[in-house]
Amino acid sequence: SNPFLTLNYESALESLGDDYYDEVAAAEFPQHLLRWRNDELLPRFGLDPQVVKDEDFITAFGRFQGRKPLLALRYHGYQFGEYNGQLGDGRGFLYGQVRANDGELYDFGTKGSGRTPYSRGGDGLLTLKGGIREVLAAEALHHLGVRTSRCLTMIETGLPLWRGDEPSPTRSSVMVRMSSSHIRFGTFERLHYFQRPDLTKKLLDHVIEQYYQHLTGEEDKYALFYAELVKRVAELVAQWMAAGFCHAVLNTDNMSITGESFDYGPYAFIPTYNPSFIAAYFDYYGRYCYGNQPSICKLNLQMLQEPLKAIIDQGEMDAGLARFDEYYQAEYSSLILKKLGFVELPDAQAQELLNLTIEFLKESQVGYHQFFYEMARTFSSKWRDEPGFVMNSSDIVPVPGASGIFDDWCILYHKILNDFDSDCTDIIAQTLTVHNPKTALLRPMIESTWEAIAQEDNWQPFYDLLQQIKSKN
Ligand code: AMP
Ligand code: MG
Ligand code: MG
Repeated sequence: SNPFLTLNYESALESLGDDYYDEVAAAEFPQHLLRWRNDELLPRFGLDPQVVKDEDFITAFGRFQGRKPLLALRYHGYQFGEYNGQLGDGRGFLYGQVRANDGELYDFGTKGSGRTPYSRGGDGLLTLKGGIREVLAAEALHHLGVRTSRCLTMIETGLPLWRGDEPSPTRSSVMVRMSSSHIRFGTFERLHYFQRPDLTKKLLDHVIEQYYQHLTGEEDKYALFYAELVKRVAELVAQWMAAGFCHAVLNTDNMSITGESFDYGPYAFIPTYNPSFIAAYFDYYGRYCYGNQPSICKLNLQMLQEPLKAIIDQGEMDAGLARFDEYYQAEYSSLILKKLGFVELPDAQAQELLNLTIEFLKESQVGYHQFFYEMARTFSSKWRDEPGFVMNSSDIVPVPGASGIFDDWCILYHKILNDFDSDCTDIIAQTLTVHNPKTALLRPMIESTWEAIAQEDNWQPFYDLLQQIKSKN
């Protein structure tokens, strides 16, 4: 028997009635080649990676044998600012919801598993490269401390795909995502569109019961939910920004109601610090550029008030949203300080170091990841001796036009180091190492991984890259 069929499945969404989904069937594929299995995730569902066979993954997630119902979730959303009432799971479905050892409920959601009532003109499929890119993004972000969905498995399916933006035909895959929930801001927007406050309330109760459980007994649970969502989203964006991650498609249908990051399409990690960096080729005006992410997520939270105001007091939501910037700033500074080696600094000093670091990264256009990694790699107690020993501009060339800022940065860093006792250097070195891994998932790395697969069906670079983004140097 297949161990994936006997997990602790719960019918959490299904039990709400069929207003929120449609039952669908999966596509049949000519081939099932298991390309990736995330053994790290199995123990939390009570599965032993040694016991689970490749064939079990294929039977469950390539052939979809024995599991019903498969649910295409209904949702709408604002895409690049325009309302779209024609969305919903168009190439994936909710495979099942599983209660894990940690007590949490997880969704297994597919991507690339065939057409649904929401496919519109689409084929319901996922390119192999698209599957690879989502696996890589989720693993990289997770290991950088970002609250993200993960990928459980990816299976190549043997269907040739014709896509305008790929050399044709290209290969296809099914990817299975493990996430805290696939309920989106857009799920609520759809209910508002159809003027169903009753369904909105039912769904909101469900969300609180499953994902904000500590609020269930509170009298003011709806307002507290919104306030907490604001905090979760603000902290998530701060995590992206510190990681140098640009999600690229922050439509409201890609915003999870649990504040978790998911759905990795044309994302990119920034090569250098540039707020105007655009990751998606179709983002003509840079709406979702790297530097816009905090304000766009705040705007999405504000738009969510529209469907929620049937249930939650407007004034309370305004008060909740008003704290977004404060939550964002606190998380962002804390994360950047850690990348600079410090768990805690006096506020004024923290602000000065943060500003100067960002100014330097922006002016110099040195590699964002390289700068921090070189700090971690070259840090030594000698840096305490004089500013001239702090880092070495030759480790992070080029520094055109920014050498003045670099000198100022070295002077400040030297000064801060000397505010600590010398026996703190070990912990600073350790903090630098833990927060600045050697390998960043920059586009050229993904591309060369893909080239090896596309040209020689050589998967080793992909597995190697996964190993590297997991390792703390
Ligand atoms: P995304 O940009 O991936 O968040 O997708 C936006 C919407 O388009 C979602 O409703 C998807 O299900 C749908 N979609 C994306 N690609 C396809 C496809 N190849 N076939 C059918 N629907 C798709
Ligand atoms: Mg999406
Ligand atoms: Mg997508």
